[in-house]
Amino acid sequence: MFSKNLNENIPEFCPICFSEKIFPDRPLSLTSEDQLKAFGKLTIYLCSKCGFAFAYPRCNHEELNSYYENHYRPRFYKNFENGDWPIPDMRSIAQLYLALLFCQFNKNELFLDIGTGVGASLTSACMMLNYPELAIIEKSKKLIDFLTSRIQGLNVFSDFNEARKNNKKAKIILLSHSLEHFFGNDIIDLMKNINDLLDDKGVIIVEVPNCDLREEYFKNRKGYAPHTSFFSIDSIKYMANNIGMNQSYINAFGVERGIDIKYYVEEQKKYLNSIGMNNISIVRLAGYLMNTYFKTINSGGVLRVVLSKQ
Ligand SMILES: [Zn+2]
Repeated sequence: MFSKNLNENIPEFCPICFSEKIFPDRPLSLTSEDQLKAFGKLTIYLCSKCGFAFAYPRCNHEELNSYYENHYRPRFYKNFENGDWPIPDMRSIAQLYLALLFCQFNKNELFLDIGTGVGASLTSACMMLNYPELAIIEKSKKLIDFLTSRIQGLNVFSDFNEARKNNKKAKIILLSHSLEHFFGNDIIDLMKNINDLLDDKGVIIVEVPNCDLREEYFKNRKGYAPHTSFFSIDSIKYMANNIGMNQSYINAFGVERGIDIKYYVEEQKKYLNSIGMNNISIVRLAGYLMNTYFKTINSGGVLRVVLSKQ
């Protein structure tokens, strides 16, 4: 008889579509000593029904927090110190542009960014929205200090409970490249919590890497830490359904898979030089790659989703 206890290190079903058709697919690849310490040895399980894949088992919470605080986030600090961020960038402009196709943002309504990173979305929101009130859910003190010293009137919530105490619901909530950093088992509850913070006529914009590991393209590729969840278009549909939300829009965007990024960046640099924008840093350049962020393409590197209340 199959015993659950004997197999406690093997997941029983897909955390997104709840199918039992899940299989160990490949190891989670680690690229540094710091990652090895934080993640240890994890296996990526793939759901053949919805294409969601997830690293398993869950790793030590403290080690993981320490990795993000001491090794992952400091990558961004230099950009703050150089004054490269927060600036409006094309990616967040494209995300907000999409949001505005599906909701009306009135004066002084709330824009909430979860996992804001360098805060590009906040400056973009100031440009594009009608006198927005800005809020983030963020734990890192250093990131909070950077952002609050540069963006006036920014509301900072340390977690969902804090955010819930704020009576104002958000008209637009953004999760840009956050969700893939969570563990598969946490995603449905996390999204339900986020849905609770949303105005009835608001939208959640989710952007994640386009990473259906069932596809031939990914056959010999690795799933890299610190990503611990890997999304397909099908899995996003199941996710929306399970959290009781309407998936208003989904599409792949960005640079086509397999393209030579170096060549692509050089071409963009040539163009910017030709219009007099010389010596542009790579960080700022990323903000100008229009085609990358506005163009829908089947094999695009990211999935962008609009979720609304049913
Ligand atoms: Zn599934």
